[in-house]
Amino acid sequence: MVTRICDRCGQPLEEGALRYVAKIQVFAAYDPLEITFEDLMRDHSDDIKKILEQCKDLTEEDLMRDVFVDFQFDLCHACQRAYIADPLPASQEGN
Ligand SMILES: [Zn+2]
Repeated sequence: MVTRICDRCGQPLEEGALRYVAKIQVFAAYDPLEITFEDLMRDHSDDIKKILEQCKDLTEEDLMRDVFVDFQFDLCHACQRAYIADPLPASQEGN
């Protein structure tokens, strides 16, 4: 019985057959902040207004996508081997 398909090649994955799961999380990374006394005393109202202005036309989904995206894919054995051999293929943009 087919319960899943390979998300990479579309091959049916029979129930009980060997399959792989690729979980990918892409999230905004921040370097540790060094907060000084002057930072704490400064008025941040203008900074907050600027950020709110930048966000005013974005949906909640857009904002979340900029911070954290989570993927999960089922893979057949052939696609698992291909994926781990080249998990980050070079971008085609600009070619
Ligand atoms: Zn596959």
